[in-house]
Order: sequence, then structure tokens, then C-alpha cells
Amino acid sequence: MTRVALNVLTVIILLLSRCCDANRKLLVFLIDGFRYDYMDDLQNLAGFREIVENGVKVDYLTPDFPSLSYPNYYSLMTGRHCEVHQMTGNYMWDKDTMKEFLIGTNPDSRLPMWWDGSEPLWVTMQKLGKRVYMYYWPGCEVTILGVQPAFCEEYVYNPSEKNLIDSMENALNMLKSDKADMAGIYYEKIDVEGHHFGPHSPEIQRAIRSLDQAFQTLNQKIKEKNMRDDINVVLFSDHGMTDLKWMEKVIELDNYIDMTYIIKMMDRGPVVSLWPKQDKFEEIYQNLSTVDNMNVYKKQEIPDRFHYKNGRFVSTLTLVAEPGWFITENKAKLPFWKNGTEEAEGWQHGWHGYDNEFMDMRGFFLAQGPDFKTNFRAGPIRTVDVYNVLCKTLGIEPLPNNGSWSRVECMMRSSAVRYDLHFVNGLHLFSVVL
Ligand SMILES: [Zn+2]
Repeated sequence: MTRVALNVLTVIILLLSRCCDANRKLLVFLIDGFRYDYMDDLQNLAGFREIVENGVKVDYLTPDFPSLSYPNYYSLMTGRHCEVHQMTGNYMWDKDTMKEFLIGTNPDSRLPMWWDGSEPLWVTMQKLGKRVYMYYWPGCEVTILGVQPAFCEEYVYNPSEKNLIDSMENALNMLKSDKADMAGIYYEKIDVEGHHFGPHSPEIQRAIRSLDQAFQTLNQKIKEKNMRDDINVVLFSDHGMTDLKWMEKVIELDNYIDMTYIIKMMDRGPVVSLWPKQDKFEEIYQNLSTVDNMNVYKKQEIPDRFHYKNGRFVSTLTLVAEPGWFITENKAKLPFWKNGTEEAEGWQHGWHGYDNEFMDMRGFFLAQGPDFKTNFRAGPIRTVDVYNVLCKTLGIEPLPNNGSWSRVECMMRSSAVRYDLHFVNGLHLFSVVL
């Protein structure tokens, strides 16, 4: 065999070997409310630091509007904006059926109409005959487009650190034994502490450090199980968090409008949905237009950049507060969060949901594994971009989506095809580095 023929053969063999291990396993972490800068102190966060050094870190992840949980859970898993996938709020109302979607575990929230607007990745995987295991992931218990994941540990409020560690161990075992092709783990504590105590509190620092401990355990387990070359791990959040001085910055709607003219009001905080009585619509709109520190939009006036206004469940009036402000009907109707001594000292100290371009709303994205570059720092990406990355590592064709491949391609190892010339046993060989 001539040397040129040998070189060509080497290239073909390497390309073939690449094609057939595209089927690597994927482990995904959805860390609720983890702001992009929570890991800035990497020197003291050994678990995060190891992932950053072995993988990819983006500057920040811009959420979809509204910068709330459910809308972004679905944008992450579909690659589509909220007005396309239809999950436009943590609280939604369907005026035709009068049904409500409420964050948490309300039975009506499992109705297909809220979820069937788009096909999330885990449903696509199952339809392709692959198996997905999900742990505490909100919505994994729902039958979406007629499909459920192979395994769903149902969501409970604020899963514990033990729940997180046990899920990691179980997921890694399922992936290693080929019972699962993809696993997803949800963790809520960072969001809960951020709400209660604010993004700059000692409590949030403690929660970040204990999450870091869990990731140290994860890194250790991956090594112990000899899985480093077989598993991609992708970690991200749905949104960030900002300080809320709610006693000072509250907009009470009943100071401006007669609430008996409102047929339905959903959610409170940065984004509020209102359906006024038809004959009072203009009056309500005019009155709310005079209120400081918030904007009121008729459906078609909602900025295009929010990718929100064409959602099926979007209200006839949408109120959006300026960062740090909180909209409610009346302060007296707010439930107080009780502190450790059971005293109703005040409500929450952190919130999110604001304009998605507001810096504090930014989340994080990290990835490590054989399909990702190592020690690679990438620029900012958007929530809708994540889906394409996940599909790529799983070797499946993404469904049509709003993500931009050009923003994420740089982080993938396969984007850097290059040819190396080197000697093996005295032979001059090409090899392809993928
Ligand atoms: Zn939250």
C-alpha cells in the first residue's frame, strides 16, 4: 500500500469512528434561578472550576421573555420562543375553557393544551426509540403529544441536596448501563434562596457552595465510573435574580383602577396579565398608562423583541414593571413569607421575570464532555440556542427552532476539523482531529 493510500485510509477510519460514537450519552442539569455571575468566585468553587477547566463556559445565557421559569424551561427544551411554544407564563388562563395553569402541582396544569404547543426534546427522543430519565423536572409527569419519558421522578417543591446526589448517582448508572440515552435533573434551591434572601445574601452564597459540593461529587463519580469519554454534561439555568425592596417599590393596581372591572388577573410581580371587561377596556388601559415604573401594553403593542405577543394565552393587557418593581392588586393581599422564626417579617427579597435584556436576569451555561472543547470561554448565548447544542451531542436532527447555530458552533469540538501530520512507527500519517 502506498503511503498516500495509507493516509487516505487513516482519514476514512477516523471519520467512520467519529460517525459511530455520535451516539454519546447526555446528562443535563436545570438549575433554577442561578444567575450568570453566581460562580464568579471560581477559586472557592472547586466543582464548578473543574467543569469550566474541562469544558465550555459562556459569558451568560439571555433568557426568553418573560424571564420566568416555565416559559424558559420550555424554550430550553424546544429551542423556540414563548409565543411559538405557547408556554407564556408561570400562571396562564385560557379564556375559552376557563382553565388555569398554575406553577407547582395544580392538576389542570397537566392538561395537554398548555404543553402540546411544541415538542420538547425528551418527547422527540422517546419517539425516536431512545430513553429519557428525568428527575424532579417540572412537566416530566405530563403526557405531551401522547408521550411520556421512560422515567419521571415527579417534581416536588424544592428537592433536597440528597435528592440531587441520589438523582446524579441513579442517572449515571442508567446512562452507563444503556437503560437511558439522556437524563435530566432539576434543582430548585438556588431560586428559592434567591427569592427569600436576595441574590447578595449569605444564604445564597451557602446554597451555591453546597451545589458546588454536589458538582465535586458529580465529577468524582464520572471519573470513578470511567465515563469521561462517553458522556456529555450540560448545565444551565432558566433565568437570574435581582434584589427586590418590595416594601418600597410596589405598584398597587387598586390605586389606579377599579378591580371589579377586571375579569381575570394572572400572576403578580414583574409581569401581570389582565383581562378587563370589554366595555371598560379603554378606561382601564388609559388609567394604567399613567402609572410610573411600569408599562402597559395592548397585545399588539408588546415589543416584537419579547417574542411574546402572539402567544395563545397572552392576555388583552400585559403589565411589565421596571426592574426592581413589583406589581400587585394591593399589598394587603400579598401572602407574607415567614422567616425561620415563623414571623411574617416581610415578603421576598429577590425576584425575576423582568425584561429579558436586564443584566440581572441572565442565566449561566456550562458544558463538558467529548463533544465540547476544553477550557473554552464562549460569548453570550440565548436560551433558545441551547436546544441545538443538546441535539448535536445526541446525534439527532433538531426540529425547526429559533436558536442560532452560529452562536454555539464555536464550543463544539467537531467545529474545529483540522488535519495533523505526524509520525507513527516511522510512517508519515495524516489524522483528523475532530
Ligand atoms: Zn423563581
